[in-house]
Amino acid sequence: MTFRSGRHFLQIPGPTNVPDRVLRAIDRPIIDHRGPEFVALTENLLERLKAIFKTSGSVLVFPASGSGGWEAALVNTLSPGDHVLMFDQGFFANGWKSVAERHELQVDVIPHDWRCAVDANQLAEKLAADKDHIYRAVLIVHNETSTGVASNIASVREALNHVGHPALLMVDTVSSLASMNYCHDAWGVDVAVGGSQKGLMLPPGLGFNAVSEKALEANETAKLPRSYWDWQLMLEANEVGFFPYTPATNLIYGLRESLDMLAEEGFDNVFARHARLGEATRRAVTAWGLEIYPVGPAAASNSVTTVLVPEGCDSDALRSVILDRFDMSLGTGLGKLKGKVFRIGHLGDFNELMLAGTLCGVEMGLAAAGVPFQPGGVQAAMESLGS
Ligand code: PLP
Repeated sequence: MTFRSGRHFLQIPGPTNVPDRVLRAIDRPIIDHRGPEFVALTENLLERLKAIFKTSGSVLVFPASGSGGWEAALVNTLSPGDHVLMFDQGFFANGWKSVAERHELQVDVIPHDWRCAVDANQLAEKLAADKDHIYRAVLIVHNETSTGVASNIASVREALNHVGHPALLMVDTVSSLASMNYCHDAWGVDVAVGGSQKGLMLPPGLGFNAVSEKALEANETAKLPRSYWDWQLMLEANEVGFFPYTPATNLIYGLRESLDMLAEEGFDNVFARHARLGEATRRAVTAWGLEIYPVGPAAASNSVTTVLVPEGCDSDALRSVILDRFDMSLGTGLGKLKGKVFRIGHLGDFNELMLAGTLCGVEMGLAAAGVPFQPGGVQAAMESLGS
C-alpha cells in the first residue's frame, strides 16, 4: 500500500467516523475497573444514557457489538421453544432471526418487500389471529441498514395495542440511535438493541439494551441459558458503579465524551442535521437518474441511503473504483442486494461539507466506472443544503 495523503472518507453506514474529541477522550491510561476512579467514571453515565433512548428505565452496556445486544435481548426474556414474530425486513432482520433460531426459538416471519417500511396493519392482522397469544415477542428493526428503510415503531406499538396482544416489543436501533428520533418509553418498546459505532460516534465495542419494566418481569421467568448477557448480574453490579466482568473501560471514556457532544448539539438538532443530510443525498441520487432503494419518502432512512445501480452494472465494481481513485469507502450490498446496490452512510460525526465531498466522490466514481448517469447530483445536493 502506498501512502495516501488527506483523510480517508469512511462513508459506510457504520462504523462511522470517530470525532477527534472522542479519540482524545479514549486515549488514556487504563484504570482499575474495580477501583474508585471507575465508579466516578460510571457515575451518572448510565443515567445520562437513558436520554439517548428517551427512557426512564435501565440501559445496560455490554462489551459487545450490536449482535451481542440482539442475543442479550432474546436470552433474557424468552424460553426455549417460545414463538416470536418478525418481518423479512432485510439482511439485519435476518441476522437477528438466525440468532433467535440458534436459541431454539420458533421464528414466524411475515413475508415482506425489502423496499418498504413494515406494515402495521399486516402485523395487527397476524396478531389478531393469534388468539392463544403464542407469540411472546415481536422483533422489528427500526432502521434496516442493508436497505436504507426506516419503519414507524409507533405504528407497530399501536398494532399491538389495537388487538390487545401482550407480546414484548423488541426493536433494533443499531443504526437509528442518536441519529434518528427514537422514543423508547413513548413508543412502548420493551427491549431496544443498540451499538456504539454508528450515531454515537464511538468505535465498535459497546452493545446496549434499554429495558422496560415488562421486560424485567419477563426476565424473572425466562429460561434461555445466559451467563455473559445476564441482565441481573449486570444490573446488580451497575448499582454500585461496576460491571460483573472487565468492561470496555476506554470506550466508556469515549461514551462520556460523545454524550457531552450530543447534549451540546441538542438531540433535536442532531436529528434535524441527519434529516437535512439525508434529504440532500436523496436529491443527489434522484438528479443522477439512479433509483433510491426504499420506496416512498416516508420509508427513506436519514442515516443511510441505499442506491440501486442500473441493470448490468456491478455496484461492488463501482465501490472499488471509488476506493482506488478517491480513497472513499461506501457500503456494499448485503445478502440478496450484493452487487446491485451501494450504500452511502451519512450519520454520526458528519456535516454539509463532508456530504458534499462524499457526493463528489460518488459522482466522479460513476463517471470513472462507466455507470450510466446524469451529471448534476452534487449540484442538486448543494442547492438543497444551501437553501
Ligand atoms: N442491526 C443493524 C440494523 C445493523 O446495522 C447492524 C450492523 O451494522 C447490526 C444489527 C449488527 O451489529 P454488529 O455488526 O455491531 O454486531
